Parts: sequence; structure tokens; C-alpha cells
Amino acid sequence: MQTRLLINGQLVDGQGDPYAVYNPSEGAVLANIPEASSTQVDAAVQAADQAFDGWAQTPPKDRAHLLLKLADLIEANAEHLARLESLNCGKPYQAALNDEIPAIADVFRYFAGASRCLSGSAGGEYLPGHTSMIRRDPLGVIASIAPWNYPLMMVAWKLAPALAAGNTVVLKPSEQTPLTALALAELIAGLFPAGVVNILFGRGPSVGEPLVNHSKVRMVSLTGSVATGARIIASTAGSVKRTHMELGGKAPVLIFDDADIDAAVEGIRAFAFYNAGQDCTAACRLYVQRGVYERFVNQLGEAVASLRMGLQDDPETELGPLITRDHLQRVEGFVTRAKAQPHIRVITGGNRVDGPGYFFEPTVLADARQDDEIVQREVFGPVVSITPFDDEAQALAWANDSDYGLASSVWTRDIGRATRLSARLQYGCTWINTHFMLVSEMPHGGMKQSGYGKDMSMYGLEDYTCVRHVMFKH
Ligand code: NAD
Repeated sequence: MQTRLLINGQLVDGQGDPYAVYNPSEGAVLANIPEASSTQVDAAVQAADQAFDGWAQTPPKDRAHLLLKLADLIEANAEHLARLESLNCGKPYQAALNDEIPAIADVFRYFAGASRCLSGSAGGEYLPGHTSMIRRDPLGVIASIAPWNYPLMMVAWKLAPALAAGNTVVLKPSEQTPLTALALAELIAGLFPAGVVNILFGRGPSVGEPLVNHSKVRMVSLTGSVATGARIIASTAGSVKRTHMELGGKAPVLIFDDADIDAAVEGIRAFAFYNAGQDCTAACRLYVQRGVYERFVNQLGEAVASLRMGLQDDPETELGPLITRDHLQRVEGFVTRAKAQPHIRVITGGNRVDGPGYFFEPTVLADARQDDEIVQREVFGPVVSITPFDDEAQALAWANDSDYGLASSVWTRDIGRATRLSARLQYGCTWINTHFMLVSEMPHGGMKQSGYGKDMSMYGLEDYTCVRHVMFKH
């Protein structure tokens, strides 16, 4: 197992405290990995700063060539990377191999192409005797901080646009799930010029904080919780660093009487429980119109009870464990408090599973009310709440009554209603009659406390650039 850090083109052992990385299916330690020391954090940022000018001046076609090669290497190592990811997250191996790895390679390929299409928007004479041009230029050293739910995918979302735009990067994966990022470090070491990509290991306070606060870091890109986002924004305010925040979510799902209920049930079974519900877009906050409410609740309960929970290597497994014992306790706490409310019905699930792994039963809680904690707060586990509604206005008001603003969906056969609602839902994405589907060409990102800035798409690329004006006197 490759556990060294990548600093200035060299794979080196961390010099900080060791930190244990677990297999959550078995609650067993996979590796004790030394964190980066503060000297190593500084060395990584200095290396990225030194490499910046050369990389920024590298023609886009040559930057693209390396990103394409990295995509090929990821595919060539697909089974190894998927094996590591499933071991470290407990997620089904088949899902890691067949869903995630192809999407990860595609992100690098998309941004390889996109880097060659980046251009300024104007050139002309706006003052007599002068010509202006607009440029989009890279920013410098980007500190990228990733979460644990899709570790390698988040690395791809962070690295690809930053590098494509000509920036250099110091990346810190989650301390809980560093294995695929560190495996990628080995592939990158021989590919990119030294210092262009640096990959560290360590916790937020010991490695993340000195990294984001380093004076040579020009932008911080975080995918993580709202609390971490707020902390980083506060700590970088003094140095006026640019920040890019992809934070939590609590996606509302509006299911109307006229929807295809079988399709909605099948969709929620898939899109609320994928990755054991540890997904910022998970279809977890359901609002169902009264005419179909009882039918939907019963059908969804049966469908969710049929989900197969198990170990990552079993090809039948649909649902793995939660990421850590602490997170299991957190999810259990939300469900225990919800169950204590007399108006809430447990349709299926509701309990942790005994054993060394961190499994929680897929859970459906019906008759939840708008101000219930289970409706308002991000659980980030295999748990959905269902709330009945009377009409479109009520559903829209409740859907928008949330601190989060990442993802939403509307299930209806009425195209007028779908169009009306998609214009008024305060979420970065609204799906109609589906949920959860992402493509590299389309932007992903939030509103409100879900953050700002876009991942993927040309908007994602532009977020890693600065608009500049250059003027020539004739
Ligand atoms: P987290 O905020 O606990 O940690 C995220 C990363 O930040 C980790 O690498 C962590 O080490 C680092 N970190 C923590 N404190 C830091 C500090 N003070 N300075 C610098 N770095 C610090 O989040 P998590 O538990 O790893 O991930 C789950 C959260 O991520 C959920 O809220 C989820 O909704 C969100 N998420 C959002 C998206 C999106 O696209 N919007 C995608 C995936 C996950």
C-alpha cells in the first residue's frame, strides 16, 4: 500500500504523528500513516509556488496531454484503485469500479479538452487609440481540501480544473480516506513536472489549517461540511484569499399526485441510499402529495427494506457501512431523536447493526413535520424523511425553507408545473423525474449554506482563473 506523500515530485514519508486509517466494514485498522509535518506543508507550498510559472506558461495542449495520460493511467489501474476505495470506504467494489472510476477518468478528459477552449471574451478599441483584450489567467497555488465520501472522485473534481487552467496544487484528502489519493500520487509523480501537484496526508487542524493559511496559497477549494467551510472562510479573510466552497446539502424531493409513482419509488431507493446515503445530493427530504401519500410510503418502505447491506467484496451488496464509528453514532442520534417524536412512524429500519462494522439499517421515517430536526438537518446516512403536502405552493415553500441549497428534484407528469418549480427552487440543481445524475459538462455547486463556486463544466474551469484586462496604446 502506497502511503507516502508527494512533495516536489518526490514520494516521501510523512514526518508528523501517525494517524490510523480504517476499513469501516470491519472496524479494523488498514494502516497507520504519518501525517505531513509543518515543514512538509511549507515545502509542498513552496514547491507548488516554484512550479507555477512554468506550468502556467505550458501550452494548453501540453497540459491537456498530461491530463489525458493521467486518465489513461487511472483506467489502467482501475481495479487496484477501486479495490482500495472500497476497502477504505466500505463501499461496494463493483460500484467503485463500474460507477466511480469511469466518471473519474472522464473528469480528467473533460478538463483536458476544456483547457484548450479557455479564452477571454473581448478584444477591441473601447477608447480611441487603445486596444483592450480580456484574458483568463491562472491564480497560482491552490490548496485543495477533500472529503471522505467519494475520495478519488473529489480529488478529480479538485485537481482537473485547477491544473487545466494552469494552476499548481497542494491537495489534502480526508484523513479518513487517503488511500486512493496517495495511490494516485505514485501515478502523478512520474508524469507531471515536479511541484505541479503535491499531495499531503493529515487532519484538518494539523495539516489543513497550516496549508490554507500559508501566505503563498492564492485560493482554497474545499468540499466538506458547512462548519469547516465557515472556519476556513474566517481564517482566510485576513489574507483575502479566494475561496471555493462545496458544502453540505439536504435535498428536497417533491413528488406530486400525477407522478409515475413506481419510477419515483425506484428512483428514491437508488438515489437516497447510494453510498449509504453519504452524499451531499442524496434524495433524503421527501415531500409527497396527499393523494398518493400512503401508497408511496408503503411502496418505498418495501423497496428500501429489500436493499442488501453487506461487505464491499460481495457482488450482491448495495449498501455498505458508514465511514466511522463517530459518524455511525451521529446518524443513530438523529434517528433516535426522530423516533422519540410521537408523530413520526418508522416504516423500515431505524437501528444500527450489531457487529464490528459501522452499519446502519436503511431507514424510512414517515409523517415528519417541516420543523423536525430530521427534516432540517443533514444526516448524511441511509435515512429519508417523508412529509405529506397539500398543494404546489406548500411544497415549494417547504422545499425552500432550508439553510441548504445544493440539489432538489420534482416528480410530476405536468411539464408546466415542472418548469414553474424549477425556476423557483433555490438550489444549485433541480432534476425533473430523476435525481443525482451528474455529467462533466454541467456545473455542480450550491446556493445558501451549501456554498458557492462550481465543480465541473466550463464554470468550474473559470472558477480557477482570474479575469484580467490588458490595454495597448497604439
Ligand atoms: P469535513 O468538513 O469534516 O472535512 C472535509 C475536509 O476538510 C477534510 O479533508 C478535513 O480534514 C478538512 N478540514 C477539517 N477542518 C479543517 C480546517 N480547519 N482547515 C482545513 N481543512 C480542514 O467534511 P467531511 O465529513 O469529510 O465530509 C462530509 C461533508 O462534505 C458533508 O457535509 C457533505 O455534504 C459535504 N460534501 C459536499 C459536497 C458538494 O459537492 N457540495 C460533496 C461531498 C461532500
